Amino acid sequence: MQLVRYMLDGKQSFGALEGDAIRPIKGDVFEDFEISDIRVPLSSVRLLAPTVPSKIVAVGLNYRDHAIEMGEELPEYPKIFLKPSTALIGPHDSIVLPQSSRRVDYEAELALVVKRLAKDVDERQAKDYILGYTCFNDVTARDLQQVDGQWTRAKSFDTFAPIGPVVDTSVDPRSLEISCKVNGELKQNSNTSNLIFGPEQLLSFVSHVMTLLPGDVIATGTPSGVGPLHSGDTVEVIIEQIGVLTNSVV
Ligand code: MG
Repeated sequence: MQLVRYMLDGKQSFGALEGDAIRPIKGDVFEDFEISDIRVPLSSVRLLAPTVPSKIVAVGLNYRDHAIEMGEELPEYPKIFLKPSTALIGPHDSIVLPQSSRRVDYEAELALVVKRLAKDVDERQAKDYILGYTCFNDVTARDLQQVDGQWTRAKSFDTFAPIGPVVDTSVDPRSLEISCKVNGELKQNSNTSNLIFGPEQLLSFVSHVMTLLPGDVIATGTPSGVGPLHSGDTVEVIIEQIGVLTNSVV
């Protein structure tokens, strides 16, 4: 199933995407819910970020091809950082370039959405704590990341966390093509089979640091080929079987 969150007539709802239609969901997508038989045309709604997280946990260098390209040794454990929930935007929302940065980069990433409260979860049980998978763009002010040492400022500007368009609850994340296009031109192209730490490993690792809540997001890192965004660009994060996350840059 592909879960969406959408706005229709001033009201926010969850729904199941089926082709060009959304079937509204009654109940809680993290607990029990029913999918109604009503079909709302996709063209009549505004899609929102498909989850409302309390926090977004992201991972540094986590693609084998990227590490090799950078001449870096493979990490022994995931290097994690946080992005604030206030950075979140949905499909077709605009990424706003901040005045204080001269170099803002795209980073196409696979993200998981947490299904239920997770604390000290064993890797073998981690699957039960994952609602599904979505596309994520870990937008980064690269110049500020380099001068600060600490990553918080570079990763946390409003609009620096585009996510969506759907949370796919049935996709197997182990071997999915992932790419990034800017103005239609291919910039990143890899496969999640190159991940050093997979989603279940990451959920377990993070849950031993902080309690994860339903709706929280873990972004799993970006492959090689990161590069700059400019005002007027259109950036797409494309993941096989999940969809295309499109945002403009202003
Ligand atoms: Mg990243």
